[in-house]
Amino acid sequence: MKIDILTIFPEFFDGVFDVGIIRRAKLAGIVEIDVHDIREFARDKHRKVDDRPFGGGEGMVLKPEPLFRAIENLLGTSDRSEYEEGTHVVMLTPRGKPLVQTNAAAIADKAKRVLLICGRYEGVDERVMSAVTDEISIGDYVLSGGEPAAVVLADAVTRLLPGALGNEGSAENDSFSRGILDYPNYTQPREYRGMEVPEVLLSGNHEEIEKWRHEKALEKTRGVREDLLKEKGE
Ligand code: SAM
Repeated sequence: MKIDILTIFPEFFDGVFDVGIIRRAKLAGIVEIDVHDIREFARDKHRKVDDRPFGGGEGMVLKPEPLFRAIENLLGTSDRSEYEEGTHVVMLTPRGKPLVQTNAAAIADKAKRVLLICGRYEGVDERVMSAVTDEISIGDYVLSGGEPAAVVLADAVTRLLPGALGNEGSAENDSFSRGILDYPNYTQPREYRGMEVPEVLLSGNHEEIEKWRHEKALEKTRGVREDLLKEKGE
């Protein structure tokens, strides 16, 4: 998969994809991530990327021309009907559909090329949406810019690409993958500051361990995310 990120703050991404699973996925050729400075696509001598909103109001808005040029430079077109199959042009925005594990998995499964557009200030000129295939929000709160959201999306998708997790485990038991939260995990030592590892985990009885884990996962989900159980019809 190729991920391209469009931002006016490319330095935000310095080192952020050079650790852990994403770094390994990059080295293994599973994912390629390139960061592009939107300013490079501005034509005026001051490389202006923002301007005041028509109709008045506070703040600035990212201009359409540099963004259209950037998309055309990367994809050869900004006409959605001409995008190659498996191309997603994503606008990170609090007005988008909430990012959940199932849509991260759908992108990991089907997408070959993902272009992530990071807004700033009051947002992006609405006409850019004509070139966008997905509007995605990472949650019901407002960030100062789309960059942290781009990192979240790139991470959530990359770890689901075949081979990305290596020996570090599988995503199957992660929270949300089965529609509920993950079960609690324990490691050495068996006893720490008076807190003991639950006996069942030391029993070697895999059936009992699975049963206990499922019960604990349900208990946790019931406690903090009852909405997930309702969605599952439990
Ligand atoms: N005025 C916009 C609104 O209320 O919808 C918020 C603009 S926000 C200060 C600047 C940029 O941060 C947005 O254009 C978007 O790219 C990004 N952003 C902020 N919150 C986000 C979220 N929850 N998910 C994804 N991107 C977000």
